[in-house]
Amino acid sequence: MFVDKAVIKIKAGDGGDGAVSFHREKYVAAGGPDGGDGGKGGDIVFAVDDSLSTLIDFRYKRKFNAERGQNGSSRNCTGRNAPDLVIKVPRGTVVRDAATGRVMADMSSDEPKVLAKGGKGGKGNARFATPTRQIPKFSKPGFMGEEFEVSLELKLLADVGLVGFPNVGKSTLISVVSAAKPKIANYHFTTLTPVLGVVKISEGHSFVMADIPGLIEGASEGVGLGHEFLRHVDRCRLIIHVVDVSGSEGRDPKEDFEIINRELKNFSEDLAQRPQIIAANKCDMATPEQIAEFKEFAESKGLAVYEISAATTQGTAELINAAYKELEKLPPIKEYEVEAPTPAELDEQAGMGERFEITRGDDAVFYVTAPWLEHIMRTVDMEDYASLQYFQRVLRNSGIIDKLEEMGIEEGDTVNIFGFEFDFVF
Ligand code: GDP
Ligand code: MG
Repeated sequence: MFVDKAVIKIKAGDGGDGAVSFHREKYVAAGGPDGGDGGKGGDIVFAVDDSLSTLIDFRYKRKFNAERGQNGSSRNCTGRNAPDLVIKVPRGTVVRDAATGRVMADMSSDEPKVLAKGGKGGKGNARFATPTRQIPKFSKPGFMGEEFEVSLELKLLADVGLVGFPNVGKSTLISVVSAAKPKIANYHFTTLTPVLGVVKISEGHSFVMADIPGLIEGASEGVGLGHEFLRHVDRCRLIIHVVDVSGSEGRDPKEDFEIINRELKNFSEDLAQRPQIIAANKCDMATPEQIAEFKEFAESKGLAVYEISAATTQGTAELINAAYKELEKLPPIKEYEVEAPTPAELDEQAGMGERFEITRGDDAVFYVTAPWLEHIMRTVDMEDYASLQYFQRVLRNSGIIDKLEEMGIEEGDTVNIFGFEFDFVF
C-alpha cells in the first residue's frame, strides 16, 4: 500500500533532575553540597532514508518519545545525556506542525533536522552554594523536552512528472527510458504508486522522472483516484503530458489533453503554469492523419509535440533529450521554506490568555501562579537570551505585568513564579 500522509506525535526527552546531596566521608563532619546536574533529554531528529518510499511505517507507530536525561547524583556526578531518537523518512517528506500547518522541515537533503529539542538537565544543589547559602537543600528539575503533533506529507522529488489519462502509456514510457519497472497492463489504474526513475542522458547527466497514477476527469472533485497523487507532481519542474494519439480507447486525444489540463488547473493554478512537453504516444498504431491533426492542434497552442511509441521506443530518445534541455533552463526543484512560529502561535501553545493568580506573601514577594505558567517555567531557560525574551513577552502579553502594576509593585520588588525569583524592573 502506498501511504503518503501521516500524523504522528513527537516528544523530545525531558532533562534529568539535578540532585540534592552532601559530601559524606568518614571523619568529615559536614561536607559541602555535591549534587550533580541532570543530563540532557534526547532530541527528536528526522533523517532521510532512501530505502523508504512511503510513509507506511507511521500507520502502525504514531508516537515517538525520546529518552529522558539521567538525573544527577551525588559526588557531583552529572546525569548521562539521553541519545537522540532518529526518525527515518523517505526523501521529500514535508513536516508540518499539525496544529498550525506551518512547515517545520522539508526532508529533501541528507542533512538531519532536529524537530523537537530535548530539555536541558536541571542543576544540582552544588551549583547553588554561595558564601551566604552554604547548605542549599534544593536543586532544579530538568527542563521539558519539546512536544509536537506533526503531519508528514511525502512530496516526491522529481524533475519531470508524467501526466495523462490511464492507459496512454506513461508506465511504458518510464520503463523504457529508465531502470524503473512499474506495472504495465492494459487496464486503467494499474499505477497506484508513484514510481520514480532516473533517466540517464549521458555520463553524469541525468534527471528524475515520476510516473504519476492516471488522472481522470473529475479528479479535482474527488472522483476516481482524486487528487491524491497530484500532490506528487507539485514539485516537478517540467510536465511531460502523455496522450494516446491513436485514440485506441475511442477517445479524442485533443479532448483528453484539455481535460487533463483542466484537472491540473483545478488542483492548482501554479501547476497549470508548469512548463509542459507533449508526448504523442502510440504513434505505431496511429494513422498519419491522426498524428497530423493532433500536432496541428498542439502547435496552435505553441506547445512542442514529440511523436513517440513507448512500446517500440521510437522517438523516446528525442523526447528525453528535449526534456533535459528544457530542465537546464528551469529553476531547481522547489523546497519548502521552514516557517518560524508566529508570536500568536507561541502564545496559543503556551496556553496564554488563561487565568493566573497573584498573591503577595508576608515576605512582600509577589507570587504568580497558573498551571500554564508552570509548564512555561519548565521549558524556558533563563540563561538563554532568546528564551528569556520569550518569557518576558509572555509576562507582558498575558497581562501579568499589568496586574502586578495594578497591585502596586515597585522597582526592585521580588516576583516569584514557581520558585523562580527575579527583581521587578520597569
Ligand atoms: P499508463 O496507464 O498510462 O501507465 O499506461 P501503460 O504504460 O500501462 O500502457 C497501457 C497499455 O498501452 C499497455 O497495454 C501498453 O502495452 C500499451 N502501450 C503503451 N505504449 C504503447 C505504444 O507506444 N504503442 C502501443 N501499441 N501500445 C502501447
Ligand atoms: Mg501506469
